[in-house]
Amino acid sequence: MKQKETLLNIRLNAENKIELSDMMIDEMGNDHVSTSVDTPIREDAFELSDSEKVKEIEKHFTSIMQILGLDLTDDSLKGTPKRVAKMYVQEIFNGLNPANKPSITLFENKYGYNEMLVEKNISFYTCCEHHFVPFNGKAHIAYINSGKVIGLSKLNRIVKYFAKRPQVQERLTMQIGKELQKVLNTLDVAVLIDAKHLCVASRGVEDDTSSTVTAFYGGAFNEEDKKTEFLKYLNLETKY
Ligand SMILES: [Zn+2]
Repeated sequence: MKQKETLLNIRLNAENKIELSDMMIDEMGNDHVSTSVDTPIREDAFELSDSEKVKEIEKHFTSIMQILGLDLTDDSLKGTPKRVAKMYVQEIFNGLNPANKPSITLFENKYGYNEMLVEKNISFYTCCEHHFVPFNGKAHIAYINSGKVIGLSKLNRIVKYFAKRPQVQERLTMQIGKELQKVLNTLDVAVLIDAKHLCVASRGVEDDTSSTVTAFYGGAFNEEDKKTEFLKYLNLETKY
């Protein structure tokens, strides 16, 4: 039974936290359970500048490599700590900083389009916060406009912004959904994410055929017919 798709149900308590069972923290990590819809970030997260962070991480990553016994005088390895530090701060985790949030402009719905709009197959790479290895996949988004519409590329940018932080798939799905509700000024938003986790594929159970599906349905998308319509569009075979 290697091929499997998991539909994750998310339960929130009164404080908007995801409810936990009594699992140990270790198990939580391996089972990819998240604890909060908001990324757990400290208040002093941005007291260091980006260049100070690069310097600090470079130092610590040097230690990790040294502890592993690697010879950092080797030409191939000596640039790695700095490369990793820059990649963390400037690329794969730059979505931690709200200053990097894409600015969104909405346009009047001049053509009076009132059906759902679906943008599917938005590809993304993010990083599992339990193992610090990538997971990647496709996000599919739908919304019904409230009189204003958004430029299509902005949907990709919002996905990428939230993907560029240590993540769990449930939180990524919900953060994208809630942000879209806010910027589009409507509850009628759906997000579906189908992703492959390297920490499941390359280690642990070593299963590289399974994928994980998570969904966020707001407003009208809680109605069965809207949900069905959305899912039907996702199955459309398109050849270009
Ligand atoms: Zn993981």
